[in-house]
Amino acid sequence: MPVIKGAQVAEAMGEEIIKRAEALKNNGIEPCLAIIRVGEDGSQLSYQKGAVKRMDKNGIACRICAFDEGISQADFEKEFSKINNDSTVHGILILQPLPKSLSIEPIKAMINPLKDVDAISPMNMYKILANDKTGFAPCTAEGVIEILDWMGMDLTGKKCKVIGRSMIVGKPLALLLLARNATVTVCHTRTKELAKEASEADILIAAAGSAKMVKADFVKEGMTVIDVGINVDENGKLCGDVDFENVEPIVENITPVPGGTGAVTTSVLAKHVVKAAEMLNN
Ligand code: NAD
Repeated sequence: MPVIKGAQVAEAMGEEIIKRAEALKNNGIEPCLAIIRVGEDGSQLSYQKGAVKRMDKNGIACRICAFDEGISQADFEKEFSKINNDSTVHGILILQPLPKSLSIEPIKAMINPLKDVDAISPMNMYKILANDKTGFAPCTAEGVIEILDWMGMDLTGKKCKVIGRSMIVGKPLALLLLARNATVTVCHTRTKELAKEASEADILIAAAGSAKMVKADFVKEGMTVIDVGINVDENGKLCGDVDFENVEPIVENITPVPGGTGAVTTSVLAKHVVKAAEMLNN
């Protein structure tokens, strides 16, 4: 059954992003993303690497702002403020989670909503709720919509089931699907008869962070399955939330892990930086 590769979607998205980045540069504005990292977490470094590569491919500058794990909350906020007020920075991505000694909460209130390209500010959360297109949605959640759009899928009236209810993926994704007139169900750890519930979907999105939990009995013929999960399996190999080997032969469309949603997430990030640069200079 068709395996939807994220790289194809990212490539298609790149065409417009590159054009918009070029137009900004022709007006003397170099779109720039600041990536804020505290410490040396392996998965954050790997996400950073992917993001830097994607920005480069799309003609966007990247500034890495790395801080020592021992930085105090006060110093972190002071440094954050400098980046937030720097007019040459258009988008800010904070790699999460921060070390336990730091709180992200004051940062959520401080960040300029126009630079908040991964939607951590209350303003952008509200704009998702209100379907206000001047805001930003979290890149991974919007990436799922990009994939479905690329597939030419009309979501009107479709039964979309999202497994996961986090602030960064599950909840905003449910709202984005709703804005496309889908009939949305959000499933979570307390959902009863999860496999049965999931199997009634037209489009199933797994964002639980639980390796290979979506088994053959969660799916049916004709279904589209988008796997957002990034996990490590029992052999130390990267895998998604979907038991790909057993699910792929049944369903109509499926995204793999690795090679699926990740590339689209960083493309949405690039798109958001360009949109931020346009809005900040209008
Ligand atoms: P999270 O841990 O904050 O939230 C997971 C959610 O899934 C929770 O709401 C929980 O109730 C639900 N859940 C967990 N196990 C479940 C189970 N067995 N049955 C039903 N529901 C269950 O995680 P998150 O930040 O939302 O991320 C989810 C996954 O997506 C993770 O694997 C993460 O690594 C991945 N992720 C991928 C990208 C990307 O670019 N592809 C970006 C962000 C997160």
